[in-house]
Amino acid sequence: MTVTTSRYVVPTGSTIVPAGRYVVPTGKDNVIVSTGRTKVIPAGQVLPQQALNVHANLVKTSKEIACLMLMYMTQELQKDLEHFGVYEMLQELKTMFSQQAEQELLQTVRAFYTCNWIPTKRGKAKVAWEDIFLPKREGGLGIRSLENWPLSWLAKAPNLALIAAPILVNSHDCIQWRDINGNMAEFSVKLVWEALRPCGAKLLWYKTVWFAHYIPHHAFHLWLVMRRSLKMQDKLRPWDVGPSIDLNTLRCVFCQHYMDSHEHLFFECSYASKVWNLVRIYAEIDTVRSLLHEIIAWFQTVTHKRTVHVIVGKLIFTAASYFIWCERNNRLFKGTRRSLEEIRDLIIMTVRLKLVSFRFKNTSRVTRLLTLWKMPSNFNLYGD
Ligand SMILES: [Zn+2]
Repeated sequence: MTVTTSRYVVPTGSTIVPAGRYVVPTGKDNVIVSTGRTKVIPAGQVLPQQALNVHANLVKTSKEIACLMLMYMTQELQKDLEHFGVYEMLQELKTMFSQQAEQELLQTVRAFYTCNWIPTKRGKAKVAWEDIFLPKREGGLGIRSLENWPLSWLAKAPNLALIAAPILVNSHDCIQWRDINGNMAEFSVKLVWEALRPCGAKLLWYKTVWFAHYIPHHAFHLWLVMRRSLKMQDKLRPWDVGPSIDLNTLRCVFCQHYMDSHEHLFFECSYASKVWNLVRIYAEIDTVRSLLHEIIAWFQTVTHKRTVHVIVGKLIFTAASYFIWCERNNRLFKGTRRSLEEIRDLIIMTVRLKLVSFRFKNTSRVTRLLTLWKMPSNFNLYGD
């Protein structure tokens, strides 16, 4: 193809040409060149004038956007990013914030671990710091701490440092890793992590807490319940409450009969039991009694199923335990109270909002469930 109009030879570096259609005039007819994707044109390549115009326009617009972006940033951030274009700036921000988000998650967990996160501002959460890094199936949060990796582990396994890095001589070479059972597999950081990390016993309840579509703060709360890590009255010690409070006089804020404990609050307490009885019908699990171990045992019998009933049941269970815990704290520390019906409505409303994003199979059982939830019968249904 011969371009007869003015040409532009990319000088140094490279030029980004955005996706689009360019009319390139030739000797006879105009040729329309379409580029479906943004292309990076290397230095020395000829560009048609129209592409150059588009590029110039893009640069101008990018500069304007970059100026606007910089205007709204703090001075420190402005200084760091002012030499970037829009695309590079976005990439830099993306990298920066993904690292920051990862760090903040770790800090949140650490803060939670060491913190006075309950309204009493006393005591620490009873979750061992190392346990947080266990996989979810072993009762942890599945966070991989890279803070001390690999230096502190090199101290634990000094032989690792003595292994000379192999020199690959051709494409057939590969590095193998022998796991604790003697099985050989292609080397990966994941395998090394699995070999060196602390291990816990596999737990049966983790799929009830961490399931598809879980609501994060509800699941995190239930994780604490399952680990018996909430600061309940039966776990308080004299130094937690001070000399003015007699621990023997503490009573559940709902029924005033017993000290609250994990088993009592979820859901042996008469108040909590009524909440459970009000909401369980929305997952058609009316036969599952309001006892934590029975609810968990029931979910374990259906843990392999991914039906809407099981997922709705888990959403209701996690939401119920979360809002009962919130209500308990509100009554204890804020002096506010909500009725049974208000708690039920809160649970149902929260789960219904989650259900809006679902797609349901078009079966009579699902239709019946949707009717129960007062959702349109043709809502996001698919299949026959
Ligand atoms: Zn009670």
